[in-house]
Amino acid sequence: MDGYLSGVGQAAAALGERIRSVRQPFSGATLPQLQAMVNDIDLDAPLGDTAAALREVADLYLDHAIWFHEPTYVAHLNCPVALPALSAEVLLAAVNSSVDTYDQSTTATLIERRLIDWTAARIGFGAGADGVFTSGGTQSNLHGLLLAREEAIDTATDGIADARTEALAKLRILATTESHFSVGKSAGLLGLAADAVVPVATDGTGRMDPAALARAIDDVRASGLVAMAVVATAGTTDLGCIDPLEPIGELCTRRGVWLHVDAAYGCGLLISPTRRHLIDGIERADSVTVDYHKSFFQPVSCSAIVVRRGATMRRVSVHADYLNPKTAAFPNQVDKSLQTTRRFDALKLWMTLRSMGADELGRMFDAVMDLAVEAHGMLADDPDFEVAAAPTLSTVLFRYRPEWLDAASCDRLMPMLRGRLFARGAAIVAGTTLGGHHWLKFTLLNPNTTTAHLALVLDLIREAGIEILDAEWDHPEVPADANV
Ligand SMILES: *Cc1c(COP(=O)(O)O)cnc(C)c1O
Repeated sequence: MDGYLSGVGQAAAALGERIRSVRQPFSGATLPQLQAMVNDIDLDAPLGDTAAALREVADLYLDHAIWFHEPTYVAHLNCPVALPALSAEVLLAAVNSSVDTYDQSTTATLIERRLIDWTAARIGFGAGADGVFTSGGTQSNLHGLLLAREEAIDTATDGIADARTEALAKLRILATTESHFSVGKSAGLLGLAADAVVPVATDGTGRMDPAALARAIDDVRASGLVAMAVVATAGTTDLGCIDPLEPIGELCTRRGVWLHVDAAYGCGLLISPTRRHLIDGIERADSVTVDYHKSFFQPVSCSAIVVRRGATMRRVSVHADYLNPKTAAFPNQVDKSLQTTRRFDALKLWMTLRSMGADELGRMFDAVMDLAVEAHGMLADDPDFEVAAAPTLSTVLFRYRPEWLDAASCDRLMPMLRGRLFARGAAIVAGTTLGGHHWLKFTLLNPNTTTAHLALVLDLIREAGIEILDAEWDHPEVPADANV
């Protein structure tokens, strides 16, 4: 026990010391520098005590980590973590519960089940709902689509095992090209045809067009194929678009197609005091992906798949006499999970809800969505920048483009700009393409980031932009009076 307390205490002290001195999201060290530091460690020559190893790790890892809690880290869908969840991490890692069977977890299993019920109620599912915690949205999407596949094959084959291979080749998933890449990956893992994901047209703003979806389902069926699932995204990774869930849900119900809603990003709307209506209709889904480690401000990993009809979860049940016999008298979560040994990640959400409460978390997500609206306004007012459509959630796409810079140069400049920013470490933004052009992206998930921080980031971008144009363009066309 003494060893434990001293180890945790030392780790917390090392972290505290680093956090107090961190001034920017990244040190700016280069890959060769970091590679050499890691390679130089002789893994067969242990230091002999935790304190020494901790100092080494602090230099290697903490000094060069990407700090998501720094307000100028505005790149990917990473959040600063809710502090109560960190207390939970201390407990769950030390006790080392595995929520696969009841006899390895007891109240941990019961706590996880309460949280699944709680989430299902927030979604608007009825009493029969169920689900399980997963490692992330990627696994949740795979899980939801696996259930959809089994339901579809069962219907298509009448349960005749021989017909399975034939049925598998006919299954189609309907989703927009804005859906997450794990949808296509899942299709491959699930043994579906190479062209199994059928793209559904969007309405021009990136949202699925329900009329196009209806036509796509009809086309699939007219070709003798099977519409296995529709994937609607509640918060696309790039634009934060929310597919219109009401009409899509109604259509899926009418046509008898499994609806999977990928709310990995937008799940925070479930607890938003002002924007819950944006995902009205989510209760029509058959399965929903929820990434608590995105908009619920939980440490990685913390995610779930939640289904409207709990009985569908039996599709992943496999029983072993040594672990979870069919006749077990206790609830065994492994019966519903793709994993076996599994972390008690649910405790983090539990601690957070019990100390801060859902409203406070929801207000934090609201804050970053409000900030995105302000950021969009700032960019629209700045002649050096071009900005894409107004945000739905908390991403804002923009380009540094002084009026005199042509489109092709701008496309060449954006990835260079992003690279230069990362190399300095004072701010980190994301990059993407939209309409065939390169854009920069703010992904806002830090409630402590303010418009002043964003103004600073824009100044850093402007500065770096001028520098690159000056240095790298063959015939620099920076006018002498350019607004630096
Ligand atoms: C992040 C994301 C995922 C993947 O989730 P992971 O937790 O990173 O595995 C899936 N779908 C959407 C829309 C996402 O934004």
